[in-house]
Amino acid sequence: MQLSDHDLRQLDEAYLESLSEAQARALLNKAVADLKSARERLGQNPTNSSRPPSTRAPWEQAGEDEQETGREAPTAPSGDEQSDTAGGEADSPAEKRRGKSRESSSEPGKPGRRKGAPGYSRTQQLPIDAEVIHTPACCAACAATLGESHPSRAHNARYEIDLVHPDDEGNGLVVQQTKHVYVERLCDCGHWTRAEPGRCDDEGDWTVALSEWHLAGPTLVSFICALSLRMRLSRARVRELLSDWLGLSLSTATINQCVHEAARAVEPVVDNDILETVRNVELLHADETAWKEHGKLLWLWVFTCATATFFIVGRRTRAMVCRVLGEHFENWLMSDGYGVYRDFDQRLRCLAHIIRKAHGLEDGFDQPARRFGSHVLHVIETVIDGVYAARGGAPPAADLRAHYAPLLNELFDACRQAADAAHEPMRALARELLNDWDTFWVVLDYPELPLTNNEAERALRHWVIARRIGMGTRTPQGTRAFALLASVIETCRKRSASPWPYLADAVRERRKGLAAPPLPAAA
Ligand SMILES: [Zn+2]
Repeated sequence: MQLSDHDLRQLDEAYLESLSEAQARALLNKAVADLKSARERLGQNPTNSSRPPSTRAPWEQAGEDEQETGREAPTAPSGDEQSDTAGGEADSPAEKRRGKSRESSSEPGKPGRRKGAPGYSRTQQLPIDAEVIHTPACCAACAATLGESHPSRAHNARYEIDLVHPDDEGNGLVVQQTKHVYVERLCDCGHWTRAEPGRCDDEGDWTVALSEWHLAGPTLVSFICALSLRMRLSRARVRELLSDWLGLSLSTATINQCVHEAARAVEPVVDNDILETVRNVELLHADETAWKEHGKLLWLWVFTCATATFFIVGRRTRAMVCRVLGEHFENWLMSDGYGVYRDFDQRLRCLAHIIRKAHGLEDGFDQPARRFGSHVLHVIETVIDGVYAARGGAPPAADLRAHYAPLLNELFDACRQAADAAHEPMRALARELLNDWDTFWVVLDYPELPLTNNEAERALRHWVIARRIGMGTRTPQGTRAFALLASVIETCRKRSASPWPYLADAVRERRKGLAAPPLPAAA
């Protein structure tokens, strides 16, 4: 938006009459640009706009009709945003309206603090360590340059609490409160132009604002994400740590807001950079594990390669996989035996899974099952030895598949017999091998390909523990925030970069309405 509400209120016929032709043309250009973008927004939805796919809950895309409210349920964001800005001398009108419209749309039975109930918003008075004056550079109406010579006055202020490094080395953290003063200036044309805190336009169905009006500065937001996602602390524990160690009393609602805001900040990067990398990589590992969202069973999917990791939570359906990989994924895909992967041509299966199951049979009491387990283990070990030898350049690298054909044919026959066995685990293993027979032995044709799906399992491990501690997520937006932040954190780690400075930068830029900075490049 080029013209703010404050600007529009000053525009009337008398003012327009007073403008020169050049000034009027400058104003008209802004007005037309605003009108176009306002019209576009009016008719926008995910089917006709550039709204990224993840602004819709995964199950909406799967063609199912379980409409979820995209509301931030466990918190009371309206009350919270107000408490954040209460430190300033006046709330922005836009922020006030937001608060109001949310209150009026709030439903009965919504979790979180009730209106009027005592909260834990910011009550302490921190000293002001710095003051920043923001002035408008040019007239919002006629575009003339504004300077010190023009009459000016402060019209608003806000406080920001952030963490700063006390030295250039980036060591240590100090809490700093900055007062930001916003000035308005009178142009020769008679228009007052205001400097305003930055704010990103509404995107999709995010209910959290990306705005400089928020009390927590970008580094504090990033720190809260680190405590929450990397250290796996609950919102209440984060509040306790900030209070006990940094003397900051932030409400759990504000902490929740910080996490969601950071996730919204990185969404474009996840949907473009990370997803594109994963779709186009030569070798991709995929895996999935159960995830709970407010008691509802969903699946946490991971798609990982050497330089990126993409997480998404949703149903366990073919549509989910296609949504991530697209309909035309043609590269190597290492996965488990889950049926939806069978549509992909260049598929690999993890031998470690089969080894574990075969060991289970070998250690059992059923004689035929023990024999079958040993047989499977012997073949896999022989194949693995052959693959390692081939990787080292030793013969018979030329045609491993032909070399091991008799061994594999023998195992194939054994599986056919075991597929009808009375012993259930033996029957299951035999059928699993037969179902995906060729995918297990692709490594004989391409010895450089991996033997196991450890990459994907390792990427999931941290979050599986987080799920056990935190019982999953509570709202659709919370789930989306989790998957977005997890994708950025794991991708940065793959690229040997710390995710936290990046996250702070992304929040800082996006709060100004600018694009998110690119992710750190792979080392
Ligand atoms: Zn002017």
